[in-house]
This record gives sequence, C-alpha cells and structure tokens, in this order.
Amino acid sequence: MSVIRPELTWLGGAFRDGAQVHIEGDRIAAVVPADDEPTHPGMALLPGFVNAHSHAFQLDLRGRGEVFPSSVESFWTWREAMYELVESRSPDEVAEIAWRCFMEMRGVGITSVGEFHYLHHADPEARDFAMDAAVLEAAQMAGIRIVLLQAAYTHGGFGSPLSGGQRHFDTGDLDTWVASLEAAQRACDAQTQSVGAVVHSLRAVDIEQAVAIRAEASRRGMVLHAHLEEQPAEIEACREAHGCTPMHLVNTRLSPGSDMTLVHCTHTDGADMAAYAASGGRVCLCPLTEANLGDGISDLPGMLAGGVEVSLGTDSNARISMLEEMRMAELGQRLSLQRRGVCLDAQGRVDATLMDMATVNGAGGLGLDAGVIAPGMLADLQLVDLDCGGLASVDQDDLGAAIILGSGDDLIVDSCVGGVWLSEMCEAL
Ligand SMILES: [Zn+2]
Repeated sequence: MSVIRPELTWLGGAFRDGAQVHIEGDRIAAVVPADDEPTHPGMALLPGFVNAHSHAFQLDLRGRGEVFPSSVESFWTWREAMYELVESRSPDEVAEIAWRCFMEMRGVGITSVGEFHYLHHADPEARDFAMDAAVLEAAQMAGIRIVLLQAAYTHGGFGSPLSGGQRHFDTGDLDTWVASLEAAQRACDAQTQSVGAVVHSLRAVDIEQAVAIRAEASRRGMVLHAHLEEQPAEIEACREAHGCTPMHLVNTRLSPGSDMTLVHCTHTDGADMAAYAASGGRVCLCPLTEANLGDGISDLPGMLAGGVEVSLGTDSNARISMLEEMRMAELGQRLSLQRRGVCLDAQGRVDATLMDMATVNGAGGLGLDAGVIAPGMLADLQLVDLDCGGLASVDQDDLGAAIILGSGDDLIVDSCVGGVWLSEMCEAL
C-alpha cells in the first residue's frame, strides 16, 4: 500500500486540506484524515482528467489545414485534408503518432482516454483492422488508460457509398464489425484497456445497422458513443433522407440512456435535447476542436439545465489541454451569451461543474470507476504545483477557478494511472 498526503485534495467539488489517500493495487483504498506532515508539500491532488473523445491519429494534422486560400474553408474541407492523411500512414506510423499523442495527454494530467477509433485499415481492400492493435499498443506504452471506442463506419453520407480515404474506415456488415469488436477485446490489457461500441455518426452508418449496434452494446454491457449534429449540413441531409433530425432518430430508434454519449450536439434542437436529456443520455463537448473547425457553440446551458452529464474531449488533438477545454467551454458561452458564469453549481461556482466535466462525467460515459478521489475508485490521479503560475497568493476557495481559468498545463507535475506514476515510469525507461 502507498500513502499520499498532499497539501490539498480535490474532494466533493472543492479543495480540502488535511487528507491522506491510501492506494492498494490499482485502486484507492481509503481517504482519511492525515496523520503526519504532507508527503507532497505545496501540491494538490486531483482526479486525473478523463478525455472522453479523441482521434489520436489526427495529431498529425496539427498545423496542417490552417492556411485558407479561399474564403470558403470549412469543416468539410478540413475533412478532405484528414482523408489525405489516412491514405498515407502504415500501422507502425499510426502507432507512433498515437504514442506521441497519448504521451502528450499524460503530460497534461489526462489519465484516461476514450479513443473514438475509426481509422481501422492499412489496406482497405483486405479490411485488415491492423490499426486497432496498433492504437492499443501505443496506449500501453504511454501508460494511459484507454477505452477503445470501436467505430462502425459504412457510408460516405446518408445513402451514399464510401470513397477515397473513407475506405480505411470501412467496417462492412454487422458481423464484420462485431468480429472486430471481439478481436479488439482480446487484444486489450485487462488492467487498463477496454472496448466500447460506436456508431460513427448517422450519416456514416445506416439506421438499421445503428439499431443493431445499439442492441449489441446493451447485450454486452458496453457504452455506446456517436458523433451527432456537429454541422447543420448533417441535419439537413438527415431531414432529406429520414424526414427528421438525427437526434429525433436517436430518441425514437436507439433507446438512449446513461450508457450513451453523443459527441458535439452543436446544432441540436431544444425539444430534441430535452427528450434526450430525459432519457439520461450524455453529451461530450470538444470546445477547442469545435472552435478550430468553426462548428458553432452548443446550447450548453440548456444541456446543464436538463440534467445532462456533459464531458469534454480533445477530439482532433490540434491542442491537447483539458484546462483549456474547460476554459473554452465556459468562456465561449460567456462570449456568446454576453454574461458571466454559465457552468454553475448550486453555490454559483463554475469550478466544480467544469472539473466534473473534465473528470467524473467522462469516466461515467466511458464506463470507468474513475474521476473521483474516493475509496474503491481507480487510482488515476494528478498532482498540481501550488507554487506555480501565481497560485501561491490565491485563497483556497478560489484555487479551483484560478487553475481552470488562469493557469497553464505547466502546473501539472505528475499523474498516475492505476497507482503507477508517470515520473516512475519515465525513470524506469
Ligand atoms: Zn470526433
């Protein structure tokens, strides 16, 4: 058993002093009053960040597609640059990109990632699923906990076939996708890796297969994720194909519930969202990516008012920082609504709500016992230097907001996954 006595500990949505945390194996065994001087003076212990939505390979698009020769660049032209990338990468290269991406996540306090994985094939003709094991190996090497969200992808759009780079994503019929899901499960390290089900989007998977995938996820006790309503064009195309919005299809055909996470919901209709919220369904926002791609700003206040558990993801990984994701989630809304204080809790504070979005809400959406410092939870933690970035003069009650709204990632000095600290891992290399 190991014991950590930090100066402060994030417990119950606030920093508390005088606590010590016992770790046994890969779990937190106890949180009790400290019986000695801090083992980590000047440091605060927080749950590790849970990055609920990532496409690791897109790290290699960082800085690319940021030159705009015409005035009509959009999400859809960015997508063409992404397709060019996937045509030219081997499994070894994807593993290397993913490893760099996951190491960068570890360095900024991310201890779990929901890797929304749709780049499956090196050879699209052979449908080799060679990239699946490559991503799992990269996560293992980086020591990050991963939920491989195994994405079904069968269409280029509502009713249209796959083309070009999209063929690297092709999962074919339901049986082929199920076989790939089971192969990924067999390749997982039982301690730190698991698999979830994914419908890439309702434009990339026809509704009948989406219904079947939903049933498979329920039968297997897996979480189910999908992209939804990031762009108005997706909604318009769905209206043409089905006579309703994608969210209406989810609500009427896919039995939403707390095991479901829909990513983006940027342009979701209020009544659709209210129905989804009533089911217990979750939403993942990716504020930095949504800003980069010019998607728009979601109705986050409406989601929170409806009781939706909102999580955060780094998505395209153009920038990897959960502090900045939290900041953009709050400040983007302030700009849009022209008022201050959006992600509020009952006490009128923003820090607890934003921290929940970056930790426990993501863990819930990934089916992980993580994101909270409490007995029985996974020992996925991070340490923050309270002498860094001008925090030394901040009152304890204001520290959460100072870290989220006013600090850089350099204050995050270490993180552990299942009780194994990154600093120890790096020393052992
Ligand atoms: Zn995404």
